[in-house]
Amino acid sequence: MDGTVGSFQVAIVGSGPSGFYAAEALLRSTLPVHIDMFERLPTPFGLVRSGVAPDHQKLKQPIQVFERIARAPEFSFLGNITVGADITIDALKAAYHAVIFACGAQNDRRIGIPGEDLKGSHTATEFVGWYNGHPDYRDRIFDLKQDVVAIVGQGNVAADVCRILTRPVDELAISDIAEHALDALAESEIREVHIIGRRGPAQAKFTTKELRELTQLTGTIATIDAAELELSEICRVELASPSNVTAQKNMGLFKSLTGNVPQRGARRIHFRFLASPSALLGRDRVEQLSLVRNRLTGEAFAQIATPTQQFENIACGLVFRSIGYKGVPIPGMPFDASRGLLPNVNGRVTQGDTVLPGFYVTGWLKRGPSGIIGTNRADSIETVDAVLSDLMAEEPRAAPGLRALLPMIERRCPRVVHLSDWFDIDTAEVERGRIKGKPREKFTRISEMLAVLS
Ligand SMILES: Cc1cc2nc3c(=O)[nH]c(=O)nc-3n(C[C@H](O)[C@H](O)[C@H](O)COP(=O)(O)OP(=O)(O)OC[C@H]3O[C@@H](n4cnc5c(N)ncnc54)[C@H](O)[C@@H]3O)c2cc1C
Repeated sequence: MDGTVGSFQVAIVGSGPSGFYAAEALLRSTLPVHIDMFERLPTPFGLVRSGVAPDHQKLKQPIQVFERIARAPEFSFLGNITVGADITIDALKAAYHAVIFACGAQNDRRIGIPGEDLKGSHTATEFVGWYNGHPDYRDRIFDLKQDVVAIVGQGNVAADVCRILTRPVDELAISDIAEHALDALAESEIREVHIIGRRGPAQAKFTTKELRELTQLTGTIATIDAAELELSEICRVELASPSNVTAQKNMGLFKSLTGNVPQRGARRIHFRFLASPSALLGRDRVEQLSLVRNRLTGEAFAQIATPTQQFENIACGLVFRSIGYKGVPIPGMPFDASRGLLPNVNGRVTQGDTVLPGFYVTGWLKRGPSGIIGTNRADSIETVDAVLSDLMAEEPRAAPGLRALLPMIERRCPRVVHLSDWFDIDTAEVERGRIKGKPREKFTRISEMLAVLS
């Protein structure tokens, strides 16, 4: 324990839900702790700010809990600092009793098909980051003048992308969608969105609420070919399971769409199943998405999509790939490249068979990109239990905490953003939004955020 301040010094890297839930669990413990939370952006809250869809404001409510945690006297927020680049892992290790990585899964998985990088082919991450005002994606350009779009993937992120593309702009205008995205969507000429799953309707990953929203959009009609809903015996077994309530409800919704026919003047969302992209085709940009038809093989609840020899092309000028996320390696730390996460046993970081003392991980970087915001709470409690039991078992040792890092930070980070600075940025964003009838108008460039503070 640090003799000068009498607290265990803990660093948390990343200010998304898993970082804040880890902080909450530490603050609730009986051990005296001081927490420094490092965040690479000037703004906190990870994907709650930059992932959760702007027209789902209520789902951003955990931010109120996170702000309460952040106000604790034993907590410091240090934004605009990238761990692994601005601060080395060795320096962190020397300064803190424990370091918890909560960096999320910032990269997309690749499909691995020819033409994947053609102009007009984008990851969902880019598009989501763009409409949510994440500075990394501020200058991306999406050609919304195209008629037909394909979205590869049938999870809730794919549903978000589909909804933002098809929802009337006046409904988005009262959300905290970034101004540049609203302007571009107002000029959109998109008429048709194909949303494509590699497995069948009984395996689609949408939650029912998100799926229902796609069927109730003003000016948009959702369609399905009835033949797509024919189920194999094994799929019927899956669907009949009492544990499979979401799939049962989804199936009911899918069936209700079979009578829908495309209407003149209306946008169309068309659900496609049992199809995987085999190539993106086009000379200079995406012109067609080539799909291979799949069949399901394997036992109930473990069926996999196996490609057949049947192919089909969809003419489309824009493709969004939404097939999952993976973590980004942190220089100086081990990385499981195949799973895209920090290798760990119940939150203790490992290298091979060895636990790396003092290093922990939580959230999407620990378990992969699954679950909702709340899922990260139990995950972080498990990690913090490991931290606390190790701290209690260890021989007491001195850890100077932040002051040991200050020379490095002063050299490399021209403007650290503290909690009070974030509140200034927050107030300015809310004020910019108030004028337009929006919850906030986000700053989308780091320079704009820092300008508020100067
Ligand atoms: C598009 C999208 C929409 C979603 N919508 C919902 C929803 O509506 N409802 C819901 O319940 N869940 C939703 N989720 C899931 C939810 O956002 C995640 O469960 C949650 O954000 C994961 O938390 P995390 O802390 O692990 O990662 P993140 O939220 O990604 O936070 C990681 C943080 O670490 C920071 N960071 C990364 N590397 C470094 C570094 N080297 N140094 C310093 N900081 C670093 C990042 O900038 C980021 O702030 C959505 C996810 C996505 C992708």
